[in-house]
Amino acid sequence: MIEATHSCPCGSGLTFAECCQQVHNSHAKATTAEALMRARYSAFAVRDIDFLYNTFHPTTRRFQNKHAIQQWAQENKWMQLNILKATFATVEFEAHYLDSTMELQIHREKSTFKQQGNLWYYVDGR
Ligand SMILES: [Zn+2]
Repeated sequence: MIEATHSCPCGSGLTFAECCQQVHNSHAKATTAEALMRARYSAFAVRDIDFLYNTFHPTTRRFQNKHAIQQWAQENKWMQLNILKATFATVEFEAHYLDSTMELQIHREKSTFKQQGNLWYYVDGR
């Protein structure tokens, strides 16, 4: 478990309490697509499945399955996040993780986000 005083999993250099934990506690604290992206990565690291589920955009959320999200979060060990490029509504990143066989994997994705009623949501990635 990651304590509030530990450095934030997203690699911002701040403590978890100063960074993504605030977004996990209050979705509105993610005022940019990048902030939501970071908080979603950290949510994988701390296994905040509800946050991951709730920050899917309503149009894509119905295709999501909490159990599958939980499995994905739990079977991998989340090591590092690198933000490669962030624009107003997209974030390109690399997530480094150890899979269930402890092999290092790099997931590279360009994610799209949408703002609805002042809140940012994750739409999809490729
Ligand atoms: Zn963070």
